[in-house]
Amino acid sequence: MIKKILIANRGEIACRVIKSAQQMGIKTVAVYSDADKNALHVSMADEAVHIGASPASESYLIIDKIIDACKQTNADAVHPGYGFLSENAQFASALADNDIAFIGPNIKAIKVMGDKIASKLFAEKAGVNIVPGNTDLIESPEQAVKTANQVGYPVMIKASAGGGGKGMRVAYNDAEAAQGYTLAKSEAMSSFGDDRIFIEKFIEDPRHIEIQILADKHGTCLYLVERECSIQRRNQKVVEEAPSSFLTPETRKKMGEQSVALAKAVDYESAGTVEFIVDKEQNFYFLEMNTRLQVEHPVTELITGIDLVEQMIKIAAGEKLNLQQSDIKINGWAIESRIYAEDPFRNFLPSTGRLTKYFPPAEQIKNGLTIRNDTGVYHGGEIAIYYDPMIAKLCTHAPTRAEAISHMADALDQFIIKGISHNIPFVAALMQHPDWQSGDISTSFIAKTYPDGFERAEIPADIKAEICAIAVYLDHKQNIKKAAISTQNSHQVSQHRVIKIDNEYINLTLDSSGKKTTVTHGNNSYILNSNWDLGAPLWSGQINGSHKHFKIDAILNGFEIEHKAYKAVVKIFSKREAELDKKMPIKIASDTSNLLLCPMPGMLNSIDVKVGDIVEIGQALCVVEAMKMENVLTAEKTATVKAVNFSAGESLKVDDVIVEFEID
Ligand code: ADP
Ligand code: ADP
Ligand code: MG
Repeated sequence: MIKKILIANRGEIACRVIKSAQQMGIKTVAVYSDADKNALHVSMADEAVHIGASPASESYLIIDKIIDACKQTNADAVHPGYGFLSENAQFASALADNDIAFIGPNIKAIKVMGDKIASKLFAEKAGVNIVPGNTDLIESPEQAVKTANQVGYPVMIKASAGGGGKGMRVAYNDAEAAQGYTLAKSEAMSSFGDDRIFIEKFIEDPRHIEIQILADKHGTCLYLVERECSIQRRNQKVVEEAPSSFLTPETRKKMGEQSVALAKAVDYESAGTVEFIVDKEQNFYFLEMNTRLQVEHPVTELITGIDLVEQMIKIAAGEKLNLQQSDIKINGWAIESRIYAEDPFRNFLPSTGRLTKYFPPAEQIKNGLTIRNDTGVYHGGEIAIYYDPMIAKLCTHAPTRAEAISHMADALDQFIIKGISHNIPFVAALMQHPDWQSGDISTSFIAKTYPDGFERAEIPADIKAEICAIAVYLDHKQNIKKAAISTQNSHQVSQHRVIKIDNEYINLTLDSSGKKTTVTHGNNSYILNSNWDLGAPLWSGQINGSHKHFKIDAILNGFEIEHKAYKAVVKIFSKREAELDKKMPIKIASDTSNLLLCPMPGMLNSIDVKVGDIVEIGQALCVVEAMKMENVLTAEKTATVKAVNFSAGESLKVDDVIVEFEID
């Protein structure tokens, strides 16, 4: 029996493993680097051991340090999570030498499957369909061209040691084959220290569909249906779902049975995943086997009701699987969105810094709809530069795919992250895309849909009207508060409002009684019903009876409001103020690119830079508090700080120059 598990990982996956261990009554040990001293996984575990400096190569990747931490805490098993040492055969044998159970497969399986060439040959022998190609090692650009011609263009040039979408290049002609070979080889060397390259056929516009395997030490091996991970950016998964909207039951069975055959051929035990690409005719081809828990495992758990981590722990303890293939049923539909610290508007540049706001939607199961959020961060925590930029994995589960998608859109609408850039607007846009909604997807979906990068689309008229109504509502609540403070009668709050949005002025009237507020625009009325508290960053409530969420940021004379993938800047005026505003000369923007101007009246909470500092794009410069909300102001370009004109605690007016830069 396993009594204490050390989790040789960090972030959300360490937290995820700790949860299942705790439910099973097993003690847990976290390990952490300098940067993770205050990380969530450390506080969740029963014990924690510091294992070194922040770079993974000085902490999470050092086998001896993990073994020492096990000895120090008497841990009798290790769960490796994914990434880091999870597919490292040397690590598994070091644990075996020290009589510590590895919660994963046997060493042979890790070795064979960890290498793309070896696993392809092995899969072929086990009767699994493989991608047509050639498994010979390619030693020169000339040989790459020759082999590419034999395989037939287009081809995929791949590093045998590859992982995480790295070390692969597509080639359509001889010039690309020669160049792709050189690029893939050097990328493989720097990423994996192993530059062996092979060439296979590039399957155009395939779908990525993978089979979850679960096998015990007693010869039982099951397939837990599939996950589809076709929504990828640069060969890395962004959105996953289970089941796939594409597979017929016959193909599912064939893929499942081939995956089981492959697993049995390596005496597989524990959880593992066999990845395939599938063409339009449902022909499927083996890509690789991942001998570990996969990032996107939650979608399988949601549709099968099986806790994969619990099963992995039981299998490692030698227990027999208490399940048969016929017990594996598909219940409903699950979707996962990977929430990354990256800026979708700036070519997905990774973003780091403090999470000045981190308010995920509440995890819950209600009316057959589930929200699950696997995360390793918390409000006020930090995203460090050293590790993977994943903040959270937001999952929804519902009876049907359409409901799971709309539930995901709704969950994203409630997910507030501030202080760093993140991809929520991008995933929100994906959820609205008709091709995604109809399941008409392939691994090239993102590249084809956003060939020139991602931008926010224009706000459709119906959503714009709702945003205007929300703005009037928010303004009204503020006015009631102000009126109460000045002891005026709140019934005297003005009923006419002019909204300025996208340089358009819109006349609205407001009628309010109790919790219900009605905003009228021409012939259209919006009845708003909400418990919104003044200053709260999320407005949740009903608009004409349907439940919605809007993200709110206060600005001068108005609000910035986000909903789905849209964002609007809304100003609210009385009729007279609007007339004056219209007469205001349109300001020709002076060149203020070397100044950090205060965007709203508020108080300077903190200033994070000093004279002489070199700041990078996206770096936090200071925090300004306005209307009980903290706003992090970040650098727009790389520059040197020339002057800092305010200090923490001082109050600020709009356009006060907080910081001056020198840009070279
Ligand atoms: P999954 O198939 O589970 O989505 P990924 O291929 O996206 O897995 O990788 C999961 C994690 O492991 C990511 O954090 C990725 O960066 C890391 N990873 C995968 N392969 C390697 C590798 N060979 N070396 C280092 N990290 C890797
Ligand atoms: P990694 O180890 O980096 O996960 P994979 O071999 O699993 O590498 O491939 C990652 C992704 O690259 C796949 O999900 C797929 O989108 C794409 N890909 C890989 N090989 C091919 C191929 N031969 N044809 C088309 N797409 C491919
Ligand atoms: Mg893969």
